[in-house]
Amino acid sequence: MNGGGGFGGGGGGFGGGMNMDDIFSQFGDIFGGHFGGGGGGQQRQQLRGSNLRVRIKLNLEEMVNGTQKTIKVKKMKLAEGATSKTCSTCNGSGVQVKVMNTMFGQMQTQTHCGTCQGIGKVADKIPAGANSQGLIKEDEEVTINIPAGAREGIQLNVRGKGNDAPFGGTPGDLLVVVEEEVDATIKREGDNLHQELYVSFAEAALGTHKEIPTVGGKVKIKVDPGTQSGKILRLSKKGLPSIDSYGTGDMFVHINVWTPTHLSKEQKEFFEKQLENGEMMAEPSGKEKTFFEKVRDLFD
Ligand SMILES: [Zn+2]
Repeated sequence: MNGGGGFGGGGGGFGGGMNMDDIFSQFGDIFGGHFGGGGGGQQRQQLRGSNLRVRIKLNLEEMVNGTQKTIKVKKMKLAEGATSKTCSTCNGSGVQVKVMNTMFGQMQTQTHCGTCQGIGKVADKIPAGANSQGLIKEDEEVTINIPAGAREGIQLNVRGKGNDAPFGGTPGDLLVVVEEEVDATIKREGDNLHQELYVSFAEAALGTHKEIPTVGGKVKIKVDPGTQSGKILRLSKKGLPSIDSYGTGDMFVHINVWTPTHLSKEQKEFFEKQLENGEMMAEPSGKEKTFFEKVRDLFD
C-alpha cells in the first residue's frame, strides 16, 4: 500500500477542496481593496438629502416663451438651533474598524459607522418639532426658471432645492414636472393649435377684421364678406415650435357664424320680410366643401 490514499485523496482532506492559493487570493482582496489605497480618513460619507417632486401648471404661452414662477415648497430643512457633535462611535471618521482574530493572525475590516451612517456627526441639540436628524418640515419659496419650449410631462431639475441632508450633507434636488393648463379657447393638437372664432351674422355677410390671440401675441385676421360657418383659416407658423424638428406648427381658426337668439320686434319683422320675399336664402352652389374635405385640405 502506498500512503497516498490514506488521507482521503490528496488535498481533499483540508476542507472541501480549497487550496492554499484560493485562501490567499481572498485575503489579497481584503487587504488590497480596503487598506492598500491608503488615505484612511477619507472614507467619510457625504450624505445627500432626498429629491422632492412638484407639479407646475403652465399655459401655452408660458410653455412656448418660457417664464419664471415662484412656488411654495414643503421640504425638510435643518431646524434653526439644531447642532451636531462628533460621533463618539467612530470619532468622526464615519468608519468602523472591526478586528477579527483568525488562525492567520488579526484581520481588520472597515464598514460605515452604524451610529452616524457614515457622516461622522450625530445630532446634539434638537429643537422642538425637529426629527432625530435635526430636520423639520417647512415651507420655502423657490423661484423656477422655465426655459422656452417646455412641454407637458417635461421634468426640470432645480439643483439643491430638495430636502436638506442632516448635518453638512448636500441637499437633494427639486424635480419640477410641467403640466399643461387646459385653455378654454385654444386647443393643442401636436404642434398645431385650434381655436373657435364666433362672428355675427352681419359680420359674416359684410366681412370684418378680428383680433385673435396666438402664443406670439394678438394677430389681426380678415373674415371675407360672405364667409360661411365652418370655414377654417390657417395661420402659418402661429402654432408651437416643434420639439423634434426645427418646424413650427400652425394655428387653425374655425369660424362659427352666430345665429341671433334674441330678436327685437323690428328685427323679427325684418327677417320675416326677407323670408316672405325669398331674400337671404341659403344658396349652396354645390361646390361647398364638406367638413371632411376641409379637414383633408388642411393636411395636404
Ligand atoms: Zn459614527
